[in-house]
Amino acid sequence: MASVQKSGTRRAAWLPSGRALPARVWDARHRGIVLLLWAHVPFLFAFGVLTHHPAWHVLVDLQPVILAATAASLAALPRGLRAGVATFGLVACSAILVHFSGGVIEMHFHFFVVVGLITLYQDWIPFSVAIGFTVLEHGVVGVLAPTSVYNHHAAQSNPWLWALIHGAFVLAASVPHILAWRQNEDQAWRDPLTRLSNRTLLSDRLGRALAQAERRDTPLAVLFIDLDHFKQVNDTLGHPAGDELLVACSARLSACVRDDDVVGRLGGDEFAVILVGPSADAAEEIAQRLIDVIAQPTVVSGHEIVMTASIGIAYASAQRTAEELLRNADLAMYVAKSSGRAHYEVFDDAMHERAIDRLELEADLRQAVAADEITVQCQPIVELSTGCVTGGEVLARWTHPERGAVPPMVFIPIAERTGLICAIGTRVFALACEVAQRIGVIDPSLTVTVNLSPVQLNDEDLPTIFAGILAEYGVDPRRIVLEVTETVLMQDLAVAAHRLAELKKIGVRIAVDDFGVGHSSLSYLRNLPVDVLKIDKSFVDDLPSGGDLARMMIQLGRMLGLDVVAEGVESAAQREALQLLGCPRAQGYLYARPMDCDALVDELVAGRLAVHPNQVGARVPTTSP
Ligand code: C2E
Ligand code: MG
Ligand code: MG
Repeated sequence: MASVQKSGTRRAAWLPSGRALPARVWDARHRGIVLLLWAHVPFLFAFGVLTHHPAWHVLVDLQPVILAATAASLAALPRGLRAGVATFGLVACSAILVHFSGGVIEMHFHFFVVVGLITLYQDWIPFSVAIGFTVLEHGVVGVLAPTSVYNHHAAQSNPWLWALIHGAFVLAASVPHILAWRQNEDQAWRDPLTRLSNRTLLSDRLGRALAQAERRDTPLAVLFIDLDHFKQVNDTLGHPAGDELLVACSARLSACVRDDDVVGRLGGDEFAVILVGPSADAAEEIAQRLIDVIAQPTVVSGHEIVMTASIGIAYASAQRTAEELLRNADLAMYVAKSSGRAHYEVFDDAMHERAIDRLELEADLRQAVAADEITVQCQPIVELSTGCVTGGEVLARWTHPERGAVPPMVFIPIAERTGLICAIGTRVFALACEVAQRIGVIDPSLTVTVNLSPVQLNDEDLPTIFAGILAEYGVDPRRIVLEVTETVLMQDLAVAAHRLAELKKIGVRIAVDDFGVGHSSLSYLRNLPVDVLKIDKSFVDDLPSGGDLARMMIQLGRMLGLDVVAEGVESAAQREALQLLGCPRAQGYLYARPMDCDALVDELVAGRLAVHPNQVGARVPTTSP
């Protein structure tokens, strides 16, 4: 493969590469050519006899054609050899035809037809055999038996010169065939935008490279490259700018690798590089180099853009097919993307197992969502000063038939990636309204908090859907708090702000979940319709000693007139520290773990979880020891 690529770089740009046709296409074309070759045998026999040659003479002359047709028909022989002998057989037919006709010029046209036919192999070897044989046959037989080849004196007396003239004409007549051959290759194997190898060619070359690497015991690596956030360029600057960027990136990728290596575009913003021999040993170095060159600023449509790329590397090993290798590199790229982008990851078998596992889980989650198997638990939120329950946070739960409880931290990201989160979110919201309705009977001021995913915020129907569910359960929207994480707000503030404002209009309240971990600018708090801050557990964990950050957040909440809830309160010491800091509300294992909604209702009804300070039998700890 390396030699093909090398010669490819020296070859004139308009010439085809002569890479092997896909096996199915080659077989079909070869079958047609061999059929034609066999068809020549009776035809030539008849022609020979009709042109007054003894039958035995005709049969002797036809021997090479019969032998070539037989060999070309043997599927056990390598394809290259079969193409070679079929070519030889056909050109021999031309020579015999000319010979039987006594060198008649018109019969030479057969050579032109044959050479055209031979380009169907789209392979330089049979083509060269055809041209070479044509010249040699005219020269050698022209010397030995001039009248068998030429029917005019000039050629008979100077057979080699006329052999060359003949060859030159045949070659010239082949130019349109060669151009068509080249165009075929382009359409089948090139990406029209970047002119890089397309997926078909890349897989084909990878297959060959793998076979060669195995034979020669040399290393081979595949890099799967994906541009980060490329869609944004298309969306904001338009597709022509996106195309310009892709062309610039492909040129940089090609410039970074050796001639022997193959760069291809797999589609969209995905590229792949096959590194062979010494390059493969340096695959990680090269991957880093590619990341660096892609990260250099590019000017497209007058805008300077800095792109980054994520790369997956897979090394060849025995029993791996081209498709497997590409898939593994793709998987490693996916891991690079999900672990922060703009770097490379090397594939290992554990990655594959995890991917299979993820796919299975994804399929199971889809089923669980369809079968309404997502349930919720509810964790009480209490007033710190009295320990009384003021509401609860509804948390999604999924019990897998074989794996048991799958934590939301595992299945929520899968749901977000697959879009299942919208269905889950709607169901959880409905279940939250049901809880609100049930505990509202105990105390109509009790609130219910629901988590909202960023993906849900992209859904413009969300406010209408939620309003419908609220009406269905007859729940006062002011008793529902929607929680969004701070990181969400940082990602696409405009969309988030717009949707949250719409949600506010239906009457629900908004909380910022996991507050303090997002390292974001605080200015968004002023611009967003936020009612509640939930201090992340990590800050509560620092209590009671290092309470500076928690104090700042509580003060900030107070200054902005927001309610504040401390999350993940586990110890009495933390509770006391929070009380001293003036935090109004808390949630955590110290008070109660998330529980089934029936259990929550029972606890509230039985007074084991206090709703009012003077409730009899209240078990929830209060400030007084
Ligand atoms: P979150 O919204 O911050 O929810 C609080 C998480 O902390 C819950 O975990 C809860 O069980 C846990 N927790 C509460 N108190 C304590 C404590 O004292 N100690 C410790 N160690 N943990 C405590 P859970 O149920 O596993 O949920 C994890 C996250 O999954 C949630 O964090 C939320 O971001 C997400 N999630 C849960 N349900 C949903 C949902 O319906 N929709 C969306 N979009 N996300 C959800
Ligand atoms: Mg939450
Ligand atoms: Mg939280």
